[in-house]
Amino acid sequence: MSDAESPSDFDPTAQSFEPVQVFPNNEDMDLRPGADNCYKCTACDTSCPVAEVDEDFPGPKFQGPEQWRLKRKEDQAVDDSIMSCSNCMRCDNACPSSVPLSQMHNTARGEYVSEEMNKLSQEYIRNRILANYRFFAKIGSKVPRLSSAIMGNRLVREINERILGLPAEREFPAFATETFREWWSNRGGPKVRSEDKRVAYFHGCYSNFNTPEVGKAMVRVFESFGYEVVVPKQGCSGTPMFANGMLDDAKREAGITVENFSGLIDEGYDVIASCTSCSMSLKQEYPELFSMDGIEDLSAHTYEAMEYLRIHEDLHSAIEDASVDEQAYAYHAPCHARNQGLDRQAVELFRDLDGVIIEDVGDSCSGISGTYGWKKEKYENSMKIGEEMFDHMEHATGDVGMTECPTCSMQMEHGTGYDIKHPLQLLEEALVQ
Ligand code: SF4
Ligand code: SF4
Repeated sequence: MSDAESPSDFDPTAQSFEPVQVFPNNEDMDLRPGADNCYKCTACDTSCPVAEVDEDFPGPKFQGPEQWRLKRKEDQAVDDSIMSCSNCMRCDNACPSSVPLSQMHNTARGEYVSEEMNKLSQEYIRNRILANYRFFAKIGSKVPRLSSAIMGNRLVREINERILGLPAEREFPAFATETFREWWSNRGGPKVRSEDKRVAYFHGCYSNFNTPEVGKAMVRVFESFGYEVVVPKQGCSGTPMFANGMLDDAKREAGITVENFSGLIDEGYDVIASCTSCSMSLKQEYPELFSMDGIEDLSAHTYEAMEYLRIHEDLHSAIEDASVDEQAYAYHAPCHARNQGLDRQAVELFRDLDGVIIEDVGDSCSGISGTYGWKKEKYENSMKIGEEMFDHMEHATGDVGMTECPTCSMQMEHGTGYDIKHPLQLLEEALVQ
C-alpha cells in the first residue's frame, strides 16, 4: 500500500501548526458579507439536530452570521460553543438566503482550536486522534485481528473513556484482514482499460481499512459498465478534521489528494467517491476553505459513485432488467447526501429492483455525525438525536439497514443491532455476474 505519511509524521500534542488563514487579508474568503445576507428567519436553528437536544448550544444562526458580525470587533474571540456543532451541514440546506453557514462554522472552529484550545487538554488530544483516524487505522490494520480484539475489549474501552474521553458504549469498528488497497494491489489493478470511460476512485479511510467490500463492489460495478478504474494515492477527505477544527491537518491531506488526482483529471478521469461525506468534502469544503492549484478542478470533477452512474449510464433500465433474492432494507439518507441532493436516489432506484423492498426511514439525522458521537460528553445527545431514526428502522419491513455513510452505518448498527449494507453492494449483487 502506498500512502504518503509514515507513522512518525504525526504527534497528537504537536503545537507547531500554523493557523490556516482562511479569513484575514483575503477578500475571497471574507465571510462577513455572507453574514449580512442573514435576515434572522431562524430556519437554520429549527433544522439543527444538536440545538434540539442540547440546551447549551446556541444554534447555527449564532455560530454563523451573529458570530461573524461580532468578528468585526478585532478583540472578539470565537465562542467555545462552536465545538458542539457536529458539522452535519443541515443548516446550509435550510437557509433560504444562501448564508455560507458551514463555511463560517468550519472557519470559526479552525480559529478557535488554533488560538483558544489548550493543546495538552484531553479534549484536544482526543479530537486530534479522532480527526486523524487514518493514521491510527494504518497502524492498527498491520495486525488487524489483534487490533480489533484489543479495541473491542470492554476493559480497554473503559480505559479509553477515562484517558481519552471516548465513550465506552461504542463498539470500535473491526479492521479488515485485507485492506482495499492490498486487495487492489494483489488483484493487479484494473481489469478493464478504456480511452473514454475512466474514473479515479477516492475510497476514503473507512472503505480502505474497515469495509473493503464496499470498495470492491464499486470497482466491480464500474468495470461491468466498461469503466477503467484507477486507485491513486490519496489522503483522508478531511471530513473529521473539519469537524474538529484541525484545518492544517485537513490542508495537508487535501494537498496529497489534489497532487495525485490532478494529472488524472487532465487525462480525462472523473473522481468517484463511495462515501457521501468524502464526495461532499472534495466538492464543497476543499474549494471553500483552501486555495491550491487544481482544487477547483478536483471539485468540479468529483461525484458520488451512484450519482455518476445515474448521470452517465441508463442505470434505471439495468436495474429494471435485474433481480435478486428477496430482501428488505431500512434506508437512511446521510445528512451530507442531502446536501448534495442525493437523498432519494437509492430508494428511487432499488424500489424497481425485483426482489427488493426498500423503505426510507425519514429525514432525521443519525446523530453520530462523524466524530461527534465518538465523544464521551456528546454520546448521550448523539443517541437522543438518533432515536427517531432507530424508531423508524424498527418499524420498517426490513431488518437490514442501508446507507452510504460509514459513521451513520455505525450508529444504525449500534442503535438497532441490524446489519448495514452500502447501496453499491446491492448494485453489485444485482448487476455483476
Ligand atoms: S452544521 Fe449541523 S450541528 Fe452545526 S449548526 Fe449546522 S445544523 Fe447545527
Ligand atoms: S436560515 Fe439563513 S437567513 Fe435564516 S436565520 Fe439562518 S442564516 Fe439567517
